[in-house]
Amino acid sequence: MDGRCAIVGDAACLANPLCFGGIGAALLSGREAARAMADGRLERYQRWVSRNPMFSPHFMGAHDTFASWGPEEIADAMGPFRKGYSLARGAYAMMRRPRWAEVYMSVYIAFNLGWRCRILNRLKSSVQ
Ligand SMILES: Cc1cc2nc3c(=O)[nH]c(=O)nc-3n(C[C@H](O)[C@H](O)[C@H](O)COP(=O)(O)OP(=O)(O)OC[C@H]3O[C@@H](n4cnc5c(N)ncnc54)[C@H](O)[C@@H]3O)c2cc1C
Repeated sequence: MDGRCAIVGDAACLANPLCFGGIGAALLSGREAARAMADGRLERYQRWVSRNPMFSPHFMGAHDTFASWGPEEIADAMGPFRKGYSLARGAYAMMRRPRWAEVYMSVYIAFNLGWRCRILNRLKSSVQ
């Protein structure tokens, strides 16, 4: 966002680097930018982007970590979740491998956003 101009969607790098979904981000960011413009309060759009968990910087950190993993790291990372997912297991996983916190945080955010299937299926299919 700059003066009277706002960038949205892919142009604003809002597609998710883990699940590659960008359609929702493009539609939502376009709507928010249009609303902010109509109200003459374009800075509200900037705030909306920076506070929205959908665009959390954790996702980019997780992407970098995840991209460097081989099958062994993936199997290790999924170890605590073999019997299911829960907050307690997530907390245990983060304490066990703090350097992978970005990945676990991203999965947690994705859970809350309802993206459970896409990211977890990707991790699960990598393990199989
Ligand atoms: C192969 C593939 C599969 C994908 N699958 C999914 C998926 O399953 N789910 C999902 O959520 N996302 C998916 N995405 C990502 C998603 O398509 C994009 O994140 C989303 O379309 C971004 O929307 P946008 O409006 O920001 O940009 P775009 O859809 O790229 O729209 C930009 C538009 O601007 C036009 N344009 C560019 N330059 C100019 C110019 N100078 N003047 C005028 N017009 C211009 C372009 O022609 C284009 O029509 C996929 C992407 C690809 C490439």
